[in-house]
Amino acid sequence: MFTIDELQAKLAGGATAVSLAEESLAKIESTKNLNAYISVLNERALQKAAESDKRRAEGKTLGTLDGIPVAVKDNMCIEGTRTTAASKILENFVAPYTATAIEKLEAAGAIIVGKTNMDEFAMGSSNETSYFGKVVNPLDESRVPGGSSGGSAVAVASGTVACALGSDTGGSIRQPAACTGVVGLKPTYGRVSRYGLLAYASSLDQIGPFGATVKDTATLLGAICGIDPHDNTTSTRPTEDFTAKLNAGVKGKVIGVPKEYFGEGLDAECKAAIEGMLGKLEAEGATLKEISLPHISYAVSSYYIIATAEASSNLSRYDGVRYGYRSKEARKLFDLYAKSRSEGFGKEVQRRILLGSYVLSAGFYDAYYVQAQKVRRLITDDFNKAFESCDVIASPTMPGLPLKCGMNESDPMAVYLSDIYTVSLNLSGLPGVSVPCGMAGGLPVGLQWIGKPFQEADLLSVAAATEALNK
Ligand code: GLN
Repeated sequence: MFTIDELQAKLAGGATAVSLAEESLAKIESTKNLNAYISVLNERALQKAAESDKRRAEGKTLGTLDGIPVAVKDNMCIEGTRTTAASKILENFVAPYTATAIEKLEAAGAIIVGKTNMDEFAMGSSNETSYFGKVVNPLDESRVPGGSSGGSAVAVASGTVACALGSDTGGSIRQPAACTGVVGLKPTYGRVSRYGLLAYASSLDQIGPFGATVKDTATLLGAICGIDPHDNTTSTRPTEDFTAKLNAGVKGKVIGVPKEYFGEGLDAECKAAIEGMLGKLEAEGATLKEISLPHISYAVSSYYIIATAEASSNLSRYDGVRYGYRSKEARKLFDLYAKSRSEGFGKEVQRRILLGSYVLSAGFYDAYYVQAQKVRRLITDDFNKAFESCDVIASPTMPGLPLKCGMNESDPMAVYLSDIYTVSLNLSGLPGVSVPCGMAGGLPVGLQWIGKPFQEADLLSVAAATEALNK
């Protein structure tokens, strides 16, 4: 792995953006067995890199990201390039416009080298539901790299790029970061525009960065955030320099430790790694405070009701008529819908659409969907109350080691349950970052820091302190 600073030093030392892009593309080629990328944008990347070199030669460099290769998850549109969401239904879909987050990255000079593999439509935690095949965890091939943004995490972990973008609906940035030993940040809902992100569950989805370091995720967040007239849920808050507080330390900070998070269900070695780190932070001047999130045990069930309900609605646009896969077998209109969708969507996506349609159906709407929305409110209230007495909340990212390959097929329920620590942040719109923290079973453990809404700068300062102590 390497950092943006290291690449910047190379550029300052005379390397060209074209040479950095070539190195990145060569590494993508030589690590093809990991299956982290769905599309590689060779020509486009080299052209953009040449433009960056031209700017540099003219003294018009755009800043820290100018000339830096970046990978993006294949559910974000780039005009004129294929965007598949790892689904057969969009196998040949070419995007007619560019996602705002990517537009901003490119406006900052970043070079997009490829579109990364993912769970189909971002549904999953294992990266095994991709139509293009699973992503391999370079640290242990018998285990998954986490999902759904596993391709982006592996792109960083395997050294093809310094940083990448993913999307997080219920943990899809934080979990793969934890499984591959990198840093992954889910921003506050509304911090980053969702325009051009293929929707999974619109009230939960958020684009965010991966990096080898906290600083690089902070740099990327600074580049992609901000109000967007194309997305009415973006916040009007001005963008910030999220690297500003990285050296602030934790002295005087109150760390909330939810008692519900460190009991049953958490792997003993992971628990020891996280508690060890909390001890070190205490020694640095932070105060640990036990807090309670009384409704948290309902997070997974309410998440899977709300997420699937929204997914069933969002995915109704893939009907074989306007764009995407169309069944060749269909003779009548109904058949066209039914066959295109059953041939085009994978099993997990179909399971989610069925579940979502069920919880929204006339007879069950009040019992499931409305009830889940009420629980969502209670969980948000739990966090609000907890934050009255602490600055940040500590949590595991995952209940244990990365899942063994094949579990999504054999025990999908167990995979859903492994989202226990991450989905509540999406339900409440809160920012969270997973940072490497010790080892368990020879693999990195992720510590998830949960922050107050829009306090990413503070959140990242605690994450940076953790990173510095993770020796
Ligand atoms: N694992 C969760 C799900 O399958 C979250 C996925 C995500 O964040 N995109 O819904």
